[in-house]
Amino acid sequence: MPEDFPESVKDDAFENAGRRCECICLKHGHYGRCPKTFLDHWDTRFHHINSFGPATLSNCEVLCIECHEKTESYGRPKS
Ligand SMILES: [Zn+2]
Ligand SMILES: [Zn+2]
Repeated sequence: MPEDFPESVKDDAFENAGRRCECICLKHGHYGRCPKTFLDHWDTRFHHINSFGPATLSNCEVLCIECHEKTESYGRPKS
């Protein structure tokens, strides 16, 4: 299991994402970026873009619960 993100990284990632799910996976049924927005951290998942990468902001993606559940294997390349 990857190391969990520190709270400071989660806060920054959450704000950088504009409090919205960052998922752009076309297979999830949303077109373009996922429209899900967050009121707070509780319905948010902090996803490791590279599951073997460090627990840092550049390796953190903010996802909604539904997208996160579908995301484990999709392996979106980060450009
Ligand atoms: Zn989503
Ligand atoms: Zn999605």
